[in-house]
Amino acid sequence: MAYEPVWSANPEKLSKFEFVKLQKDGLDIIRTILEKYALEGFDSIPADELDLFKWAGVYQQKPRNGHFMMRVRINTGIMTSDQARAIAEIARLYGRGLIDVTTRQAVQFHWLTVENFPDIFRRLEAASLYSYEACGDCPRTIVGNPLAGIDKDELFDTTAIVEQLNDFFMLNRDFSNLPRKFKLSVSANYYNNGQAEINDLSFTPAVKIIDGQETAGFHVMVGGGLSAKPHLAQKLDVFVKPEEALKVASGVVTLFRDYGYREKRHHSRLKFLVADWGAEKFKEKLFEVIGELPARGEDKTLGWQAAYFDGVHPQRQEGLSYVGLNVPVGRLNSDELNQLADLADSYGEGKIRTTMSQNIILSGIPNNKLPELLQAPVLQRLSPVAKNFISRTVSCTGNEFCNLALVETKERAVSVAEYLDERLQLEEKLRIHFIGCPNGCGQKHVADIGLQGSLIKTPEGMVDAFDIAIGGTLGTGDQGPAAQFTRPLKGRVKGERVGPVLEQLITFYSEQRSETE
Ligand code: SF4
Repeated sequence: MAYEPVWSANPEKLSKFEFVKLQKDGLDIIRTILEKYALEGFDSIPADELDLFKWAGVYQQKPRNGHFMMRVRINTGIMTSDQARAIAEIARLYGRGLIDVTTRQAVQFHWLTVENFPDIFRRLEAASLYSYEACGDCPRTIVGNPLAGIDKDELFDTTAIVEQLNDFFMLNRDFSNLPRKFKLSVSANYYNNGQAEINDLSFTPAVKIIDGQETAGFHVMVGGGLSAKPHLAQKLDVFVKPEEALKVASGVVTLFRDYGYREKRHHSRLKFLVADWGAEKFKEKLFEVIGELPARGEDKTLGWQAAYFDGVHPQRQEGLSYVGLNVPVGRLNSDELNQLADLADSYGEGKIRTTMSQNIILSGIPNNKLPELLQAPVLQRLSPVAKNFISRTVSCTGNEFCNLALVETKERAVSVAEYLDERLQLEEKLRIHFIGCPNGCGQKHVADIGLQGSLIKTPEGMVDAFDIAIGGTLGTGDQGPAAQFTRPLKGRVKGERVGPVLEQLITFYSEQRSETE
């Protein structure tokens, strides 16, 4: 039986959208789409129902003329070549061939119509892929280590745990009406491949002596998130054995569901509850739900590699390598994805892996096949050795498709990266992130240079402009520097001036920085 919401006893404290969710569970929209709207067309969809489409993984896209964006969950970014082909085919048939890799390792289609959805859901399900709950007030795509299982730098393989968590939460009506979205990260990689501090709940690698034995498991962070009010997740004083990860995750989501704020949409993420309670009270409440856990052990996070894997690298398995490819601002087309799927089968282990830096990894390549693989025509554009700036540029969707965007981002990001690559030679690679509004999907808060779109008034009218912030980083473990968000610089730069201004800024930085910067 579906969970009975305790918060509905206080209706005066609920935001308007909570009433919509109380009348209809978000998951019910999937059946309504199939049985009604796909047959009767876009004009038959009432506005309230459109908001529930998120539970099916779709948003209305810009321009608002009946087209949709759909997000597909790729948990921790790992998919088979056949799944990649299914994605490529859907994009070719219905999405003008366009595929975007997101900063949460998912993929997105554009230009879909509601009449397309039944066939798309069917094609996805046939490939064991799902758009369900990729958006909406529910547990979404689980991010983490795209190298799980092949990683020289992971404490243990997290693949089975991620599958267990995904199978438990997806389409689970006990957790399909949360106060807001819930972002989960699972990684046992030593270099923070799960970007732990910016998720609602993160499992990170740790060990602890239990009954005289060193036991590998997780530490836990809660309450991270970006957007206009970014919060870094807080560490809980607990050690979690791998087999207890599901119990902990379900306890945390239960606390969020039952105690999370439902009065204002912009004040509903778990981060606000965690900030108010503090880590100690949150832990005590968690223990009330799931029982006690041992205290923290030894943290095994040693650094942060910002989810970049470009180039050729040895795997845990002797004689095999993975190849990290640059996908400029995360966008590729269906032909390219098909070609990558063929390469994954011919040269590798039949897997394609997406990263939180919006890039792709081919894995399981025998070392003697690497020279031939690297000659593949598709790797000319999706290169393992892309130039410095284009290889480190991330962009959200922007106003090409996103209704919340103030400015265009992806084309701007590519042109700025190309401008800088033509002019600047730096030894290190600076990460530049573009976002089109304060929501932060492009994760500008953790960039070396983060650019947030806005509009400014000029004699010629309103034009695109960007606020610039610098110095974001995520955590590097108990011994290393702590995570911090970007700090804003004064002023706002017209879109057309971003390239030259960044050229000046980076030149100044490279000439003036101290040795430790
Ligand atoms: Fe849209 Fe804003 Fe997210 Fe960019 S950051 S995709 S503009 S909501």
